[in-house]
Amino acid sequence: MTQSTRVLVLNSGSSSVKYQLLDMRDSARLAVGLVERIGEETSRLVHTPLTGEGAGRRERTAPMADHAAALNAVAEELAADGLGLDSPELGAVGHRVVHGGLKFSEPTVITDEVMKEIERLVPVAPLHNPANITGIRTARALRPDLPQVAVFDTAFHTSMPEYAARYAIDTVTADAHRIRRYGFHGTSHAYVSRRTAALLGKDPSEVNVIVLHLGNGASASAVRGGRCVDTSMGLTPLEGLVMGTRSGDVDAAVTFHLMRVAGMSADEIDDLLNKKSGLVGLCGDNDMREIRRRIDEGDQRAQLAFDIYIHRLKKYIGAYYAVLGRVDAVAFTAGVGENAAPVREAAVAGLEELGLAVDADLNAVRSDEPRLISPEYACVAVAVVPTDEELEIAQQTYSLVNA
Ligand code: ADP
Repeated sequence: MTQSTRVLVLNSGSSSVKYQLLDMRDSARLAVGLVERIGEETSRLVHTPLTGEGAGRRERTAPMADHAAALNAVAEELAADGLGLDSPELGAVGHRVVHGGLKFSEPTVITDEVMKEIERLVPVAPLHNPANITGIRTARALRPDLPQVAVFDTAFHTSMPEYAARYAIDTVTADAHRIRRYGFHGTSHAYVSRRTAALLGKDPSEVNVIVLHLGNGASASAVRGGRCVDTSMGLTPLEGLVMGTRSGDVDAAVTFHLMRVAGMSADEIDDLLNKKSGLVGLCGDNDMREIRRRIDEGDQRAQLAFDIYIHRLKKYIGAYYAVLGRVDAVAFTAGVGENAAPVREAAVAGLEELGLAVDADLNAVRSDEPRLISPEYACVAVAVVPTDEELEIAQQTYSLVNA
């Protein structure tokens, strides 16, 4: 009998789908790809099979009207590589779902009931959940017999104590509108905190870790003994660290000040804080490589943007140090965290009294492997731990359907 050891991971955005096909016997990636500009004339599919004779990047540009058209095109590409979605070796589809509210603290096999619940969460995740729902519907239509699993970005954070999750606003209003801190990037925080424990040769239950997920979106979390006790994103991914295009923490009064004084609408302010703020708002660039290049040329705006980014990061390291009481490791991950040595160096500079330091030579090493960058004498390990959200989704999906 053929074993169904393959898992297709789908990450559906409003106009894009990212996908990976993995074989869970050895966690090997069989194919990866991306469809972008769905719904436009210039939709583009980039497909890269990673095994067999067809290995190598393929690209097709053709109008794909909706997610169904996009997934059908993906299915054709996979079939051309002998990896078709009708293969008995495909055991499940794992979907990234951004908002699981309080209800979903674990990966969940998708039923009609689960779909209704994800739909009920649309008001608190208007940008993300509708796209995730479309992706799930399309995949279910394509292979109705196959288990489809939702892996929620918020799930890892449902362990936060009530005093960390609640805002100090009127409880009746907050509860009526489900306003509380949910946190995001949970799949990455879960994966990276576990990998950091492994790097230290310990069980996750034995270690306290501050995880700094610094991508275009960025968030920090405090993880005690494998459970999240605080995280920097809140009701939406806007709160917390300075990000590529998001402001992170601002006084909530900024919002109604802009409404009253600048005459801006809620949508305009949403756009300002989510898309035109953060690094891009401060200096015009959101790519840390470009910002570092400009700093090297003496650009003052880029320098100030970098300093604001680092100052906020340092405040969160300090805050989560205090929340955890004892910290075994600080782990940097995602695009900036994994690649930008100057960010790591600046974030822990001056924190020697807290047991935190970075060794310049170790920090300069480039590698895809989890590694320590703190000197031997440091009491707290500082680590670079590459994240792998797709692998985590595939593993959680596979474990659930084979439980
Ligand atoms: P996303 O949140 O979109 O998943 P990523 O985790 O892929 O983001 O991070 C993307 C960001 O990583 C880029 O915007 C850039 O700022 C940063 N980055 C990527 N490579 C490097 C590098 N070599 N040096 C510095 N920053 C980098």
